[in-house]
Order: sequence, then C-alpha cells, then structure tokens
Amino acid sequence: MVKFNYLIVGTGLFGATIAHSLTRSGKQCFVIDKRSHIGGNIYTKLVNGINVHKYGAHIFHTSNKRVWDFVNSFVEFNRYINAPIANYKGKLYNLPFNMNTFYQMWGVTTPEQAATKIEEQRRESGITHPRNLEEQAISLIGKDIYYTLIKDYTEKQWGRKATELPTFIIRRLPVRLTFDNNYFNDKYQGIPVGGYTKLVEKLLEGVEVKLDMDYFENKEYFDSVADRIIYTGEIDRYFDYCFGHLEYRTVSFETEVLEGVSNYQGNAVVNYTDAETPYTRIIEHKHFEFGNQPDTVISKEYSKEWRLGDEPYYPVNDERNSALYTKYKALADAQERVIFGGRLAEYKYYDMHQVIERALNLANSL
Ligand code: FAD
Ligand code: UDP
Repeated sequence: MVKFNYLIVGTGLFGATIAHSLTRSGKQCFVIDKRSHIGGNIYTKLVNGINVHKYGAHIFHTSNKRVWDFVNSFVEFNRYINAPIANYKGKLYNLPFNMNTFYQMWGVTTPEQAATKIEEQRRESGITHPRNLEEQAISLIGKDIYYTLIKDYTEKQWGRKATELPTFIIRRLPVRLTFDNNYFNDKYQGIPVGGYTKLVEKLLEGVEVKLDMDYFENKEYFDSVADRIIYTGEIDRYFDYCFGHLEYRTVSFETEVLEGVSNYQGNAVVNYTDAETPYTRIIEHKHFEFGNQPDTVISKEYSKEWRLGDEPYYPVNDERNSALYTKYKALADAQERVIFGGRLAEYKYYDMHQVIERALNLANSL
C-alpha cells in the first residue's frame, strides 16, 4: 500500500531541503538515513560546550540571495569569515593567495610589485594552456607559491600527483592583489549559531524521519511505501557497482578535547602545506563561533584513499571516474520513479549552497 508521495534516502542537506520544500507544498515525505543522526556530512555535535563539525569543517558561503534568505529563515548565522593560515615548515602564510601572502613570500609591498613577480614566474614557466592542476597553479600565482603552499598539500589531500589532477580544483581559490584574507569571494558567509544540526532539525520539522535504516537492507519494502524515490546516496551503490566502483577521497579525523586549553592555535583553520606533516590541517572548532569556553576541541585531518566501507567524502572527478559516472548517469536517467540528487548521487564536488539550490530547483520542478 502506497502511503507517501516521496521516500527520501538521506537526511543530508539535499534530502532535508527537498523534504522541507515538498512537505510545504503538501506532499507526504518519508526520510530515512543509515546513520544514527540527521544532517549527513554537515552534522555538528556539542562537545564540552563547543559545536564540533564531526565530518570536517563547514563554512557556509554563497552569493545566491535566495539560498541565503532560505537558510536564514531557519537559523541565525554569525559573522564568521574564513581566513585560514598556512603553516609551511613552521613559517606562517595567509590564505587565500593575496597581498599578505605575496608580502610574506617575496617581501613585495604593492600590488604592482606582486603582479610583476607573478608575471615573471608565469612567463618563465612557458605555460599558456594549463592542462592539469600543477600547470594551472603555476600559471595563476607562480612557482614559489606553488611549491610552498600548493603542491604538497594537494598531493596529500588527493593522494595523486598534481600533474594528474584537473585544473578546476585550484581555481576554487581566489587570487587577489588586495590585503584580503577572506577565503571566499561570496557575498554572504557565516556559521549557523548553535551548529548545523539545528538547521537540519528545522528543515525536517514535521517530516517523518527514521534513522539507522539502510535503504538497501530493505529496498523492496522502502520502494513500496512511496510513489517516487529521491536518492541521495552513492550512485554506483544504487546500481550494485555494475560498471565498477567510483573512487573517492576520504578523511579520517583525529579529534582531541584539550581540557584547560582555551586557545590552541588562534584560528579555526590551520593548513599544513609541507609533505612531512602527515595531516593536511588542524581545525579548532570553537573559533567558528568565537567561543570562549575554558576547553578546546581540535581535529587533525588525514586524507586517505577510500576503501569500501569508508565515508565517501570527495568525488575524484578525474577522467576515469568522470567516464564511469557518465555510464551510471545514463542508467539513472532511465529510472522512472527514482530521482538522484546531492553530492554522492550526482558524484559532484558540491558546496552546501549549491546543494540547496539544486534541491530547491528540483522541488519546484516536481
Ligand atoms: P551527504 O551530506 O553526504 O548526505 C547523504 C546522506 O545520505 C547521508 O546522511 C548518508 O548517511 C545517507 N545515505 C547514503 N546512503 C544511504 C542508504 N543506502 N540508506 C540510507 N541513507 C543513506 N561545503 C561548503 O559549502 N562549505 C564547506 O566548508 C564545506 N566543507 C566540506 C568539508 C568536507 C570534509 C566535506 C566532505 C564536504 C564539505 N562541504 C562543504 C560540502 C558539503 O558537505 C556538501 O555539499 C553537503 O553536505 C552535501 O549534502 P548531501 O545531502 O548531498 O550529502
Ligand atoms: N589547496 C592548496 N593549499 C591550501 C589549500 C588548498 O593547495 O593550503 C588546494 C588543494 O588542492 C585543495 C584545493 O586547493 O584541494 C581547493 O581547496 P579548498 O579549501 O576549496 O578545498 P576543500 O577542503 O574545501 O575541499
């Protein structure tokens, strides 16, 4: 007997947003998640009074007013601006690449001097049409910054040579000739006061949710309870890996509560850009919310190749995986009752605002 209009697999941001929108337009939704909590990767948990980003640091940023107004209608956002510090063999640099970084690297004090230095290195490299991340980075900001702040970090993060990675990954980062350490160019930025879990709780208010339920453990039953299915899990899993596995990078977090330490590193995010440090970065969670608790919580992030059973964090959008995804996508498009959405089902490196925008658009079209 069909009871619901939609079964939504996943309480992450995509699943929660679409569940909210469809419910508001009068549809009956049933949302399940195999985890024991809601929120997917944006889940935050209170530890010693500090909201800990359990699956990695999340900073909300967007230029889309519709998305910004949407999230602000559920929770208040604070004035946090992400301004990570890079630590290369004990020396500190500002990120993203801006006049502070250029001063620290070359001692240049004016935009003109910095631009000349970058242009000099770009010309020396002879790169005109960058074909991979290394060439793209060198042609954007020159070899000194590439070798100090990018190469080793990128290779730790992706477990692949920078020459084997696509150019778009590094184009995510701004390059500026101003003294502006804001990691993002977006118009709006902040962290939900009280953590991301609160946002997802609000999105799922009035929606039937069941946790600790893996769709594939009882697929036949779940398929029978709704007219249509919105699936936000891994696309290759849905098709039983019939063409082979899509690859991901995963991250393991070594989280420590430092009792009696009120301020460990003075910033929410410190990246370790050398090859010797085994982790990519240390997050000090309290600084996302300007916390003044007596203790602190830090997480060291180790990036690893994904194995079946690990959390699939970052889709690896290289040639092999993109071709494989295209094959799965063709199968997905041929499904009449099932809609695939979100970071895992679309195998895309989406940020939160993009996930919300896509979910809102899908809800409209439905
Ligand atoms: P998910 O959050 O992965 O949700 C999918 C849900 O589906 C999960 O809860 C999962 O348990 C559930 N599920 C899967 N399969 C099944 C099944 N078979 N049965 C039942 N349930 C299932 N974005 C930003 O904008 N800013 C940032 O700073 C930022 N930092 C990030 C840092 C890291 C380390 C990572 C990995 C991502 C970051 N992102 C950031 C991206 C952000 O996490 C995603 O855009 C967003 O969480 C994706 O939401 P989603 O619902 O598509 O996927
Ligand atoms: N990156 C880098 N050095 C840094 C920070 C980032 O080389 O200190 C590169 C790295 O390749 C990374 C990419 O820039 O994958 C994008 O960085 P971003 O911070 O957007 O990645 P996220 O962790 O949000 O996925």
